[in-house]
This record gives sequence, structure tokens and C-alpha cells, in this order.
Amino acid sequence: MSEQTLHGYLVLAMFVLAALSFVALLRVAAPYGRFVRPGWGPTVPARAGWVLMESPAVILFVVVYALGRNSAADAPMALLALWQLHYINRTFIYPFRLRGRDKRIPLLIALMAFLFNCLNAYINARWISHLGEYPQDWLTGPAFLAGALLFLCGWTINQQSDGILRRLRRSGEDGYKIPDGGLYRWVSCPNYLGEILAWTGWSIAAWSLAGLAFAVFTVANLLPRALANHRWYRQTFPDYPASRRALLPFLL
Ligand code: NDP
Repeated sequence: MSEQTLHGYLVLAMFVLAALSFVALLRVAAPYGRFVRPGWGPTVPARAGWVLMESPAVILFVVVYALGRNSAADAPMALLALWQLHYINRTFIYPFRLRGRDKRIPLLIALMAFLFNCLNAYINARWISHLGEYPQDWLTGPAFLAGALLFLCGWTINQQSDGILRRLRRSGEDGYKIPDGGLYRWVSCPNYLGEILAWTGWSIAAWSLAGLAFAVFTVANLLPRALANHRWYRQTFPDYPASRRALLPFLL
């Protein structure tokens, strides 16, 4: 089997995984953060879990990328830069800025996310630096420009929203409050909205099925979580703003 064929099957597997995850997560909230609960096996500290599960998205991605025949070309390098802008923060900075007492997450969740990130790093890095073709003028074309702009908008929203959540707690403080400011005026989970916009943008900039599979997976993962968080906020805080939606302002 050629590598191109194998890559195609792995991308297909990612779409199937997205569909299965979506159905499962609509029924059962993943047991981390506010939904952490016993019965999911051994646990690890949340910060270590974040670093473990996200590290393939930085390290494996760079290794696979560097082995590609087009790794020195402009368009692949720009896509690599956008990817790493997000993942270096998510893997090595974000976990150490989290506030709250030493939370734990099930090892099972961290391992599943680790495996997912290995698959995702391979299919996307391999595509942009080796299997895909990007013409010389790709960086000035409409797909890259529109996609990169959407990525940067989503990334900014995600960063701003994660920052608002972080500042709800003082160092060492635990517990939950009603977030406000930024896009929290309109939705309960603008951090997830930003994440979805960012990967949708990246998939447009890369114009690849592998990128699309990751964007679809992100929706499949974060839409059910946003609905669960929103329900939780409404049940927990009687004064929760009634007009606030879960994920999409005025719509959902
Ligand atoms: P959450 O919004 O559940 O939590 C983020 C942090 O904020 C946690 O430390 C949490 O504490 C704290 N927090 C959340 N709500 C409140 C509140 N009301 N008051 C005080 N503190 C609060 O986000 P996730 O952990 O689900 O995700 C973190 C980031 O990772 C997001 O940017 C998300 O987009 C991204 N992500 C991306 C995925 C993908 O598929 N691409 C999948 C999952 C996450 P605590 O841990 O105590 O709940």
C-alpha cells in the first residue's frame, strides 16, 4: 500500500472517530474539569496530563514535518508556524498558568488524547510538507489569506477567553464563577468557539482533507462539551444570564 493510500485511510479514520465521539459525547461528558468523577481508572495531575497529551502536536508534528520533501518551502513553513503558534502555548505554557487546586484527570483520557494527537500530527504534518502540493504563490492566494485570517481571529478569541477564565480565580483558589467580558457576553464557551474557528481557518489555509478532518473533530469534541457546560452553568447559577447561548451568539 502506498503512503498516500495509507494517509487517505487515516484521514477517513479521523472522520469516523469524529462521528463516534460526537454521538458519545452528547450522552456522556468527558470526565475532566467540572465533570471529573470517580470510576475512570487511575488519574494523573491535570498539568502533567496536558503536557503529555498535547506534546505530539508539537514534537511529532515538527519531526514528521522536517522529514518532508517540501519542508523548506514557504507555504508549508507558514502553515507550520500557525500550527505551532497554537500548540506551543497549549502544551508548554497554558498548563502551567491554570489556576485552582491540583486537579487530576483520568490517565485514560490523557492516553486517548495522546493517541489522537499522534494521528493528527502525522496526517497534517505529512500532508503539508510531503504529500500535498502548494504552488509558489499559495501564500498570496485567497484560500491561504482567508484561512490564516480566520485562524488568527479564532486564536485571539481562544486566548482572550481562556485568559478571562484564568483570572476568575486567584492563585490556589478553587471553585467556579460566572465569567464575563469578551465573548462571554454572548456565549458560555467562547474559548471553544475560538478553537473551532482557528482550526476551520487552518484547514482552509492548508486546503486539505486532513485539516478538514481535524476541524470536524474539533466541532465533534467541543460542541457537546459547550452544550454540557452551558447546562451546568444554568443549573449551578440561578442568576446566569438568560440570553447567553452555549457556543454561537444568538443561535445555539
Ligand atoms: P474549560 O473552559 O472547561 O476550563 C479551562 C480552565 O478554566 C480550567 O482550569 C477550569 O478549571 C477553569 N474554569 C472553567 N470555567 C470556570 C469558571 N466558570 N470559573 C472558574 N474557573 C473556570 O476548558 P477545557 O479544559 O475544556 O479546555 C481548555 C482549552 O483547551 C480550551 O481553549 C479548549 O478550546 C481547548 N481544547 C481543545 C480541544 C480540541 O478538540 N481541539 C479539546 C479540549 C480542549 P477546572 O479544571 O477546575 O474546571
